[in-house]
Amino acid sequence: MTEAEARPSNFIRQIIDKDLAEGKHTSVHTRFPPEPNGYLHIGHAKSICLNFGIAQDYQGQCNLRFDDTNPEKEDIEYVESIKNDVNWLGFEWSGDIQYSSNYFDTLYSYAIELINKGLAYVDELTPDQIREYRGTLKEPGKHSPYRDRSVEENLALFEKMKSGGFKEATACLRAKIDMSSPFMVMRDPVLYRVRFAEHHQTGDKWCIYPMYDFTHCISDALEGITHSICTLEFQDNRRLYDWVLDNISIECQPRQYEFSRLNLEYTVMSKRKLNQLVTENLVNGWDDPRMPTISGLRRRGFTSASIREFCQRIGVTKQENMIEFGSLESCIRDDLNENAPRAMAVLDPVKIIIEDFEAGKVETLNVANHPNKPEMGSREVPFSREIWIEREDFREEANKKYKRLVLGKEVRLRGAYVIKAERVEKDAEGNISTIFCSYDSDTLGKNPADGRKVKGVIHWVSADNGVPAEIRLYDRLFTVPNPAAADDFKATINSKSLQVMNGYVEPSLIDASPEKGLQFERTGYFCVDNKDSKPDALVFNRTVGLRDTWAKTGE
Ligand code: ATP
Ligand code: MG
Repeated sequence: MTEAEARPSNFIRQIIDKDLAEGKHTSVHTRFPPEPNGYLHIGHAKSICLNFGIAQDYQGQCNLRFDDTNPEKEDIEYVESIKNDVNWLGFEWSGDIQYSSNYFDTLYSYAIELINKGLAYVDELTPDQIREYRGTLKEPGKHSPYRDRSVEENLALFEKMKSGGFKEATACLRAKIDMSSPFMVMRDPVLYRVRFAEHHQTGDKWCIYPMYDFTHCISDALEGITHSICTLEFQDNRRLYDWVLDNISIECQPRQYEFSRLNLEYTVMSKRKLNQLVTENLVNGWDDPRMPTISGLRRRGFTSASIREFCQRIGVTKQENMIEFGSLESCIRDDLNENAPRAMAVLDPVKIIIEDFEAGKVETLNVANHPNKPEMGSREVPFSREIWIEREDFREEANKKYKRLVLGKEVRLRGAYVIKAERVEKDAEGNISTIFCSYDSDTLGKNPADGRKVKGVIHWVSADNGVPAEIRLYDRLFTVPNPAAADDFKATINSKSLQVMNGYVEPSLIDASPEKGLQFERTGYFCVDNKDSKPDALVFNRTVGLRDTWAKTGE
């Protein structure tokens, strides 16, 4: 079954099926309209998979359109990152990239049309007054004293706005609709405001910028969008969307449909909040592997297939809900369990010296890359007299449940021999510095000859040939499931969300490619950091643990 065939239906697809069956449309055209004021996050991935997925499955088209009407908050860096992320997620937009700013001239002429029809006016109330005059949900608004200006006067004043004759916040263009509408968006919404800001696409050509509600519907219509899909907070705005298109001379009449946005536990999804985390250095940039951004997840080792799978599993509905972080993790775990080659790494090393193994000798062992997939081949792992094991894999005393190395007892080294701990050496503080062992040379790939049972298996790295590596362990970025609901979301940041270990990895990993998933035996799924790792200073990120221990232990 292809990915497209596997995509489940949803209420939007049902609407499309009906529209096609009734001949309302002969083909489907969607769009993904990000504002380039931040990096894309996993919530955007939901919208991307929905819009581009529909275009793929119905042999239709999906545009990538930058909704760029807020020059102060936008930046070309964001434009580039968004293009990159959409492609990385596995999607290709139809035709050229679109920008709302490409339509500034056309939008201006539609504004003139509304003025000529007596449906828009230049208001000189201050933004505070406009808010006050708008009324509340319980009380109707009041008319602005400037509402009944003549068409001629409005045309002249709008021209003055455009040519820089008004300071910011001293004039705006408003639609003349209904100040007592039960829908606040219909109470003479602002269509244009004055902003003396340099725009990343249009430079300083404009000092008036159209508002989202005016721009979005017209952009959709100009691009021949059939189904304009957005999140539920725009439900009321649909009235304004339709009002604008009904009152200008434009043929195409796209329809807006709303679905519930993705909310994910232990994270925030608002770009304003994510921006704060970055600018206040609470994380290390937009692509910090703890961020819910596409670039952060990618750097952490999520594959694009696992993100698409996640979007498929959560589905598309109109119900607001909060998704468990574990459901995202289980998607990448399922992917990597299947596809990630195995390797050995020791995160918190303690030295073992195998006294009866010849000093200076290096034995090359052949170890399978995947326990159930012989087609993934094998690799060479050097074995030597001195090796590293995890500090937590040794105890001087332990009960029978502890299936690792215990003083005076035996354990198997994964892919190698059975060893026995003979004695330990401690430093001045009483910490074990070295564990001296002996080994059974007749146990490579077979059980001890005399029938002794050795139950435990631990991983290890040759101390002579292993490579030092920085290993970054990530946890949830916040300590509470819904940080956005806290008085100060920043106060709920998990101070232990990044733990840096200095360990050793087997030498085959020197050439591991960035982002490619690996399973470190017994410790989790990891990848080479795509930014900080260097051949002589390797850095690995933990993508996810082997099992979902977090939900059970809270660690
Ligand atoms: P913010 O409110 O944080 O600024 P936004 O929704 O305004 O985010 P846009 O860049 O305008 O961000 O979003 C582009 C598209 O992605 C929109 O169609 C929006 O509805 C959708 N989108 C944004 N966040 C989510 C989410 N959490 N779940 C699903 N879709 C989302
Ligand atoms: Mg938006």
